[in-house]
Amino acid sequence: MLDKVVIANRGEIALRILRACRELGIKTVAVHSTADSNLMHVKLADESVCIGPPSSNLSYLNIPAIISAAEITDSVAIHPGYGFLSENADFAERVEQSGFIFIGPKPENIRQMGDKVSAIRMMKKADVPCVPGSNSALEDNPDENLRLAREIGYPVIIKAAGGGGGRGMRVVHSEAALLNAISLTKAEAKAAFNNDSVYMEKFLEHPRHIEIQVLSDGKGNAISLGERDCSMQRRHQKVIEEAPAPGITEEQRKKIGKRCVKACLEMGYRGAGTFEFLYENGEFYFIEMNTRVQVEHPVTELITNIDIVKEQLRIAAGEPFKIRQEDVKIQGHAIECRINAEDPKSFIPCPGKIQHMHAPGGPGVRWDSHIYHGYDVPPYYDSLIGKLIVYGQTRDVAIARMKNALDEIVIEGIKTNIPLHQNLIRDANFHNGGTNIHYLEQKLSS
Ligand code: ADP
Repeated sequence: MLDKVVIANRGEIALRILRACRELGIKTVAVHSTADSNLMHVKLADESVCIGPPSSNLSYLNIPAIISAAEITDSVAIHPGYGFLSENADFAERVEQSGFIFIGPKPENIRQMGDKVSAIRMMKKADVPCVPGSNSALEDNPDENLRLAREIGYPVIIKAAGGGGGRGMRVVHSEAALLNAISLTKAEAKAAFNNDSVYMEKFLEHPRHIEIQVLSDGKGNAISLGERDCSMQRRHQKVIEEAPAPGITEEQRKKIGKRCVKACLEMGYRGAGTFEFLYENGEFYFIEMNTRVQVEHPVTELITNIDIVKEQLRIAAGEPFKIRQEDVKIQGHAIECRINAEDPKSFIPCPGKIQHMHAPGGPGVRWDSHIYHGYDVPPYYDSLIGKLIVYGQTRDVAIARMKNALDEIVIEGIKTNIPLHQNLIRDANFHNGGTNIHYLEQKLSS
């Protein structure tokens, strides 16, 4: 096993990684900004190193500072968590060149999946279904682009190959607007991602967001852990996630899972990863791959009884992969609510001191959070302060448990989106299951 790991992240995921390390007997090093010395995992880690001032650019994104922390603590590996440097191929490369293990995929796979055009090319090779589209970067050829859009059928969406975080996309409803939209998206992509390559896809009007979790050891063994439904979104940010996805059959799960596994094997993919799909009229359409652990990984852990973070650590340590596909059994239902420090109506972040807090409990309740009584939520970072996750033998039981847990949890001193979740968990359409990615925004605007 690994001897000592640097946790290059903060908040709940840093604590999640620390807990997994401890279970496996791995020593931990917390690296943190000056604003974060009171984080729970910093207090619990074997060692901690301050890597810079509050601004993420100078601390959690400061590659030399993080690598130096690994050097001075004699660590062997670095876990990037999610966000920050987790999908930065240059970081992964620098980590490896400095003699440490990067707990994630090979840099070339991160790079390949980070460029959406090359990701789509790879998926097509592995028979992973993609959205009908250009399948390659658009050339500077107006006639050809007009012809392509006509063939795909309007509406189409122009997307930046280097895009991320819901930026660099433009929907086009008619031929008259196409060429201008391509130029605008190219200019924006150049400014935002320093890469003006754009491509075209059919714009799906009422899809759900369904994603497939995989684990792959980079040595010829890969498995799929089933799907998650993350359609409850606001501004492309997931709010509630659940697994399995309502209405998906075992046959569909197997079929799409197999293709994702095939893609992993063809890439020689190493670690945990997620294939994101839009799902409409019974069909899956690949949109992108996340080459890291995701915020919503716990719902999959609860229905498969597989600890994804421990598996990441084992894979990084080069241990032979023990879980076979036939060992993966999907059982019961899990739901996660992302608890944010924000106003539940305006969604404006609300940092500040937690005056009082009580964690929920009872059968099937998991609370993944770094906050505690007296903790001061800093204003510099993402507003996620905890993930409330429930498990039940059926979806109805999981919903009932989530209702209880949301009524039990107490966080005072700052505003949170708990009232929004209390409302959503009682929503009749959510109860029916299968709402599309526009549902939450439509509900909020009505
Ligand atoms: P990002 O990396 O910026 O998150 P994605 O490719 O994952 O970009 O797309 C983000 C969101 O944009 C999707 O979840 C979906 O809501 C919307 N979107 C992207 N492509 C399409 C498409 N072809 N049709 C409809 N919506 C799309």
